[in-house]
Amino acid sequence: MRIGILGSGQLGRMLAQAAHKLGHTCAFYDSSASTATAGLGDITEGDFGDREALREFASRCDLITYEFENVPCETARFLETLKPVYPPSKALEVSQDRLTEKEFLQKLGIGTPRFEAASTEAELLDACATLGYPCIAKTRRFGYDGKGQYRIAKPGDVPLAWKALNGTPLLVEGFVPFTRELSVVATRDINGSIAICPLAFNTHINGILHRSEIPAPDLAQSVKTLAHEAVTKVLETLNYVGTIAIELFEVRGEILANEMAPRVHNSGHATIEGLKTSQFTNHILAITGFQLGSTEPLSRAVMYNIIGAIPDLTQVNKLTNAHVHLYNKAERAGRKLGHITLINPSEGEESLVDQLCSR
Ligand code: AMP
Repeated sequence: MRIGILGSGQLGRMLAQAAHKLGHTCAFYDSSASTATAGLGDITEGDFGDREALREFASRCDLITYEFENVPCETARFLETLKPVYPPSKALEVSQDRLTEKEFLQKLGIGTPRFEAASTEAELLDACATLGYPCIAKTRRFGYDGKGQYRIAKPGDVPLAWKALNGTPLLVEGFVPFTRELSVVATRDINGSIAICPLAFNTHINGILHRSEIPAPDLAQSVKTLAHEAVTKVLETLNYVGTIAIELFEVRGEILANEMAPRVHNSGHATIEGLKTSQFTNHILAITGFQLGSTEPLSRAVMYNIIGAIPDLTQVNKLTNAHVHLYNKAERAGRKLGHITLINPSEGEESLVDQLCSR
């Protein structure tokens, strides 16, 4: 099949690599083409509102998917009138706005941090008073990797936060004293079968994912069950087809959902070598109408993101258990340029790669 992918970043790159292995071809559509997908399929540069260009793109694809959650909902809805689009546009609608997303999760009985909406500085002050200090104000739309967030420690911070976040509508969350951060990545196929990857244990530096380990060590069966129930409810409610990720806080044996991404996810990259079937392969299998592959772990896998600059990889390349992925992107502070996955690493191997990938 010819798979149309909206977006052209590294997630599109890895989706295409999985698709190629299964004999498919890919075409990309993006408002500004990234080098990350160069050589992996035709790239159409066009506005997401340009219906003629979208129609022409759709005419060259058997089905369409996306690799970033800020594809305008109208674009996805328009494309749905022309070709199958997976996951459904409803998933974009829910996850593009942090308030809608949290309300959706809450309605499904999935725990979330306590939250309040605020559209004015006065409402922000009220929300903080209700939630208590510290709390975290987040822009409702377009936040990622910790951007569009402000930690408010005291009432005096409110005007600063309001200004720093540009006076846009906000979601304010109570600060969660989490034990650790986890994520659950899962895929649902066209017939409703679901494959759930082992939960990932994630650590961030400056709001950006630094390290992700699967399976999450020392995971209580009860926490795993809660995460599985949560992701299953979300997938079934949205009649979802494809891969989804939900980021979770683990707090005293409970889980609280932080956010969901209706796409393959950075915390799922270790699934490429760590599982028999990666999050990318299962996404492609799902959207092309095949049954999902096994997500049983093959071994412990630890992924480190390469951010901002590519380190000297000479020593890493000599390791028999290190898998280096580079995304063909120019170096720039804060940018995800690649990742390294270690299979069953020793402490020394982990610390070598940890140091190389720490900024
Ligand atoms: P987000 O952009 O919502 O994924 O947030 C980025 C990071 O900020 C998360 O991975 C957490 O480390 C932290 N964070 C976000 N929301 C909260 C919260 N309500 N309480 C504590 N830490 C948070």
